[in-house]
Amino acid sequence: MEMEEARKSPRVRLVNRRQLLMRTIDVERLIEEDHPARAVWEFTGRLDLSRYYEEIEAVEGVAGRSALDPRMMMSVWIYAYSEGVGSAREIARLCQYHPAYQWLTGMQSINHHSLSDFRVRNHEQLDEVFVNALGLLSAEGLITLERVTQDGTKIKANAGGDTFRREEHIRKHLEMAQQQLEAMGDPESEEVSLRRAKARQRVVRERQQRLASALQELERLKAEKEGEIRVSTTDPEARVMKQPDGGFAPSYNTQICTDAAQGVIVAVEVTQAGNDFGQLVRGVESVEENLGRPPDQVVADGGFTTRENILEMADRHIDFIGSLSTGDGTNRLKALGVDPAFYPDAFIYNPGDNTYTCPAGNTLKIHGKEKLTGYTVFRYQAQASDCQACPFKAQCCPKSKKGRGVTRREDAPVVAAFIDKMNTDTAKEIYRQRSRLAEFPNAWIKDKIGLRQFSVRGLLKAGMEALWACLTYNIQVWIRLRWRQQSFQGVVSS
Ligand code: SF4
Repeated sequence: MEMEEARKSPRVRLVNRRQLLMRTIDVERLIEEDHPARAVWEFTGRLDLSRYYEEIEAVEGVAGRSALDPRMMMSVWIYAYSEGVGSAREIARLCQYHPAYQWLTGMQSINHHSLSDFRVRNHEQLDEVFVNALGLLSAEGLITLERVTQDGTKIKANAGGDTFRREEHIRKHLEMAQQQLEAMGDPESEEVSLRRAKARQRVVRERQQRLASALQELERLKAEKEGEIRVSTTDPEARVMKQPDGGFAPSYNTQICTDAAQGVIVAVEVTQAGNDFGQLVRGVESVEENLGRPPDQVVADGGFTTRENILEMADRHIDFIGSLSTGDGTNRLKALGVDPAFYPDAFIYNPGDNTYTCPAGNTLKIHGKEKLTGYTVFRYQAQASDCQACPFKAQCCPKSKKGRGVTRREDAPVVAAFIDKMNTDTAKEIYRQRSRLAEFPNAWIKDKIGLRQFSVRGLLKAGMEALWACLTYNIQVWIRLRWRQQSFQGVVSS
């Protein structure tokens, strides 16, 4: 049999990396027609960015380098945040090869310093843009202010828990930084490398500035509270706050007000407050500042529902839906060793003579009253001799020598009306919807944008980063509810 002819080597297209290529790129066609980057660009085109343009020094007809276009910078940041990118370095890298960023920048490369500066350059300008965006969304019918929810979320500060120091530590290190700076002398005289000497000096100077502001913050806190005070030497304005997982971490409390109609964020504030009690009034004021009028109704959880806030909302003619804790004082009674069978429910109130009758049939007379915000507390006291001789003393008032006391709380009419309202099915249903409406933007900002920790330091800059995140979120609402429907309804349905 004739031998089979030997098989020849297969021929493949080899990879050749030793070549230079020139390609034609149609920048306009880098991304599809319905790409969200186009929507971001369209939205920023409608914003009034005149304040950003006004500060540009380069002008037509005069030699010099042109400035980066604020609309482009804003679009890049918003698109980046919508993709969960919050780092200027990462964006600068993406601008070199990612089609969406290349389309937005028109293939320009952008330095990460320029991106960082743009993000935190001017709080007022960004605030104006946020308000301007709300105006556009309102004009498109996406905001009604009929119902607004408010919720707070803790976002970690850009500082570790181990950076909190006492006054003496900060003073000592501030002095050391000063000595180090003096020992460095004039960088111009450095023979080795002027650039390195200046860089070293800048690092020490920045550290000195951080320590100085930590000391300043510490002095401010000393005026507010007593005891041992520590502040972070990395971000002095951050506060240690309780986290949803029960732990504690340096954080800021970010307050977000959301319009219930379509879920647009209508106000955002970053605060140092560890709890939400004092934030409701500021929340409705922010909504009014941003949109020209307060909401008709505000819905917030128990963390915001105090008698002070109920009265304040009533004064402002805002319908408040919340959850008021009426605290029955059982924890205190438990600590005093009182048997649950002798808790206040076991005492009968006699409105006729304003007294109580105890389980042993004795009378507790009025012993005083205290008027507090939104309610009055009335105190009643049994005769010491009655209690000493009572067979129930060990269960009713084991530690008292003066005899058992009971308190009665009388709410102000506005608070009583609030409690009655919250017992209705309508109010209960509105409150039930609260978590879905209020917590969605918070979750989106943390999960989609990735803002679980601020990438900048200080209250003002953290506030700006929260504004960027909320502006991005609002533009996403617009893309979903308006841009996609208006621009591609025909395409999708055909
Ligand atoms: S201890 Fe005093 S208040 Fe309590 S049941 Fe006896 S008499 Fe009444």
